[in-house]
Amino acid sequence: MALTFYQYKPIQNYLAFKRKDFLLIIGILFFLIGLMGVGLPPIYAIIISLAIYFGIRIFVGRRKKMIEESVGEGICVKCGSKIENQKCPICDRKKFKNV
Ligand SMILES: [Zn+2]
Repeated sequence: MALTFYQYKPIQNYLAFKRKDFLLIIGILFFLIGLMGVGLPPIYAIIISLAIYFGIRIFVGRRKKMIEESVGEGICVKCGSKIENQKCPICDRKKFKNV
């Protein structure tokens, strides 16, 4: 039943995702309470909150997909630019100039 390193990593990512989702729901709930607090009818407050919740979910999903597509080989740990041919176009060029 022991988990190998390769199985462990996706589970960690999954838990991190779930935690973010949980925080989003908490945030939306507070927003909902706030809307009702200013005198908005509960049905409108719920509709607005749900619209924002799904809006954020769709936005985050698209962003994640865009990042995954643009990252490709990976990103440089130092500067965050795209890795091409297993080299960072910025950091590896700098290294060349310094030497
Ligand atoms: Zn770099």
